[in-house]
Amino acid sequence: MVNDYMKLMELNDDFLLFDGDLLKMYKIPKDKLHEVHDYLENPRERHFAEVGSLDRLGRLTLCVSSVCNLACKYCYESQQNFCEHKQAFISVETIQKAINFVFSQYCEGIGCVQFFGGEPLLNIKAIRYTIEYISEICLKRSIKPPAYTIVTNGTLINEEAHNLFNQYFGRITISLDGRKEINDANRVFAKHAGSVYENVSANLTKFAKDRKYLIDVQMTITECHLQNVNSDIIDYLHIKKLGVTSVHITPLINTKDYQVAEREKYTSRIIEYFRKCYEHEMQYIDKTNYYKLLSLVRILKEKTPSDHYCGAGFKDISIDVLGDIYPCFMFNDNPAFVMGNVLSDGKDFVANRDTYISNTISRNQKCANCWAHGICSSGHSGCIGAYYLENGRIDRPIEHNCALTKSVFENALCKIAQLT
Ligand code: SF4
Ligand code: SF4
Repeated sequence: MVNDYMKLMELNDDFLLFDGDLLKMYKIPKDKLHEVHDYLENPRERHFAEVGSLDRLGRLTLCVSSVCNLACKYCYESQQNFCEHKQAFISVETIQKAINFVFSQYCEGIGCVQFFGGEPLLNIKAIRYTIEYISEICLKRSIKPPAYTIVTNGTLINEEAHNLFNQYFGRITISLDGRKEINDANRVFAKHAGSVYENVSANLTKFAKDRKYLIDVQMTITECHLQNVNSDIIDYLHIKKLGVTSVHITPLINTKDYQVAEREKYTSRIIEYFRKCYEHEMQYIDKTNYYKLLSLVRILKEKTPSDHYCGAGFKDISIDVLGDIYPCFMFNDNPAFVMGNVLSDGKDFVANRDTYISNTISRNQKCANCWAHGICSSGHSGCIGAYYLENGRIDRPIEHNCALTKSVFENALCKIAQLT
């Protein structure tokens, strides 16, 4: 019997022990296992990380457009009536107040500004203006400027957008689900026919030559992928061929308007899918770039476990076209989650922020006793926005995703152990 917060895995002829509190891994020869008996079984005082400095905001998501030129069938944003705003675009006044507000709350500025929508490239003027406005403030205050990124559907990347990215953006994120028939089954133009896939891949190819920014693709695994046993990995490889840097695979979330059919089957298929993609990646990476590949490895290296599922509401905030502040873009347009409004100086923001700071992993007994708790932060199972959409609560993880996360971690830890 091993303490819940530790994970014992078989690794060829040895065991691999992962201590989830201390983020340490040990290789234990099979015939020596009995010698670490006490360490494995006797409960000890637990360690959970503090919230850390709140002088610099990790990420500001700024929604510059509430409208989109696509109408994707599974889009949680359209389910939250993103497109029903009376105001389509953010105003200059709201941009100024939003940035002033953030700098008043976070004296060391912002780590990263993510432009978001709707489709943010529908309002490229606002993106340029925001960057220039922030640059002035940072210069005046001698603060390190933020990194810039954007989440775009990729259909509006023209010369102007490409040049702006080249000048200011380290990387951009494009949503794309796979080959033409898979992508276009769900991702469709709102007002006209035509292939979204063809449009995006043409844009990627056109500007490939002098591109200085990296491209991440966000790929949502729908039932279209899973219907054909062998198609899923093909889609992954297909996207990789378009010259993207990384593919972030996102499982679907059950919401009141979009239910994943046969959820159990979906989860086991998606675990298998991750495994295949992972095996593929491992063929091409050497020891050095493996360390760059996974946030998991960074966490293990730096030994910085978090006691938060993610930074939503305190290290991560979102401001929409109306100036409403939300804990993250996943909550945009939900009045129950408005933390304040920048046009009235964000009154109530600090009080609301405490709600998110106190939503810790260690307060949830199941998570506190889960061996993955120290590495389960955003990007893995720790997404309180997804929890809310699926379970209606920000403190109740999605069990299916936990199974997926733990399986991915298990795979990754064994691979790391084999490399070291
Ligand atoms: S969210 Fe799931 S995987 Fe993460 S710590 Fe909690 S139980 Fe473990
Ligand atoms: S993990 Fe989810 S809720 Fe948290 S900041 Fe990221 S998208 Fe938002």
